[in-house]
Amino acid sequence: MAVHAHPDDESSKGAATTARYAAEGVEVLVVTCTGGERGDVLNPKYGEVTGGIEGMREVRRGEMAAAAAALGVRQHWLGFVDSGLPEGDPLPPLPDGCFALVPLEEASAPLVELVREFRPHVMTTYDPTGGYPHPDHVMCHRVSAEAFAAAGDPDRYVGRGEPWTPLKLYYNHGFSLARLREVHDAIVAAGGDSPFGDWIDSRQAREIPEREVTTRVECSDYFDQRDAALRAHATQIDPEGFFFAVPREIELAHWPTEEFELAESRVPVTLPETDLFAGIRPVDQGAEAAR
Ligand SMILES: [Zn+2]
Repeated sequence: MAVHAHPDDESSKGAATTARYAAEGVEVLVVTCTGGERGDVLNPKYGEVTGGIEGMREVRRGEMAAAAAALGVRQHWLGFVDSGLPEGDPLPPLPDGCFALVPLEEASAPLVELVREFRPHVMTTYDPTGGYPHPDHVMCHRVSAEAFAAAGDPDRYVGRGEPWTPLKLYYNHGFSLARLREVHDAIVAAGGDSPFGDWIDSRQAREIPEREVTTRVECSDYFDQRDAALRAHATQIDPEGFFFAVPREIELAHWPTEEFELAESRVPVTLPETDLFAGIRPVDQGAEAAR
């Protein structure tokens, strides 16, 4: 179960990993907290979306369906309303009724119910900072952590389904500084223009400690599916923009994996890992024994 804030996050964070597991026969469910209805059109070639936030919600529902089909995964809407990305100084207040303002228990209840119904062994979400300063990314972390903690407890969220205890909780870390540096250096060495230079500088300048990467999943065979899913979000993703600015041959040669941080585990693990299901699937126990 890959929990994401709004449509397009599932295609930019851990997308090839979900495509790989789905192709291998794992039941993969992408969960989308909000409709992304307060998102701006970020693709300069797209044109305009009319009809206000309802119009945007409708367009993004169609984009999400196409992205899920490209990844080969199922997808479920939690039905919350996008909080928007507040900008300005001072920051404006969040809009009434938006996801980030819903009290934690109320916001987590539909996810707890979904965990009890879908019964995932593994959940992915964002780290406590959201990985990106959008209020819905932070809220996505909070409801995911709450659902991971509470779904198996029969005394919590009573009436919301039979308890189910997921075994591992991960944070997506596809944009680690290590990856940005490696890919940046490879592009520069090949004489190209790297999209990451300013981002690397600003992250270094801020001296934010890097989160730990515990798990690298090889998924380069699924980068084409990831790219198709990204392009499906036509209002958000410029096919000639940031997400496509790394030459694919450089990516394949230098960074064929997606990264995660194992935040919590209820099964014994040996870190680092190369599989989100390590310690859960019998196949891994076999591989361990054979070593
Ligand atoms: Zn997002």
